[in-house]
Amino acid sequence: MKLTVLGCRGSMSVEGSEYAAFGGATSCYFVESDKPAGGNVYLDAGTGIVAAPDVEGEINVLISHPHLDHIQGIPFFPELLEKGTKINIYVGTDEAHEGYDAAAAINNLVSPPYWPVGLSAYPADVRVIKASFPIDIKGLKVSAMEGSHPGGSLIFGIEQDGQKLVYATDYEKTEESVEELIEFAKDADIFMLDGQYTDEELEARKGYGHTSWNGALELAGRAHAKTLMIIHHDPAHNDDILSAAEKELTEKAGDDIKVIFARKGMILKI
Ligand SMILES: [Zn+2]
Ligand SMILES: [Zn+2]
Repeated sequence: MKLTVLGCRGSMSVEGSEYAAFGGATSCYFVESDKPAGGNVYLDAGTGIVAAPDVEGEINVLISHPHLDHIQGIPFFPELLEKGTKINIYVGTDEAHEGYDAAAAINNLVSPPYWPVGLSAYPADVRVIKASFPIDIKGLKVSAMEGSHPGGSLIFGIEQDGQKLVYATDYEKTEESVEELIEFAKDADIFMLDGQYTDEELEARKGYGHTSWNGALELAGRAHAKTLMIIHHDPAHNDDILSAAEKELTEKAGDDIKVIFARKGMILKI
């Protein structure tokens, strides 16, 4: 599999030279199979999806939850302008989103009064699907667990031929969910994990639904992940803050686990 970071900023997009290295676009990642005719899938559709590569065939998008920073790029998704292209946007069942209808939330966002037209007005053949996971996307096995975040957020696992990627954005540690997540992410080749805050910031923002980068390292270590990718960077954290945090966390992790803070444009082979 191949992972491309299209946007890794949390909460809202930012711009300016002080954000040039890590990028200001909100959550969007692209996972491609390395098999011939294998599947591909976008993880979330924040503003990063504007820079989506041109992909042949059916397009699949997994939405963790319908908070604005994860869906606000949908109307600008270039593939929507490709006539006849089939686009499947997957959300969880109402139950997986704490009773909210995530499909309706997306359809509402892309329609008046929030947007001039609905999804059906675009040339592509786009559907928003409430899925019960696991599902198979051309050999990519996608599983999900319910995370811990206000309104509910899905954590996705993608596996192919023994390679495993876990995408856990917008997650706050709770006693009930931590053990389940450690099991879900066990031995992941890459564990993408919410590390929005410093420990001090997390203390002041309990209940916001996020993790500190130190907390993320502790969790990834217990899951025996090979690589931890910190994602969902706080809008207040510029390049200097994130570079220093990456250095500090890398030293703390030692040889046990590789630590990367996601940067827009970064490509990883899994
Ligand atoms: Zn978010
Ligand atoms: Zn959220």
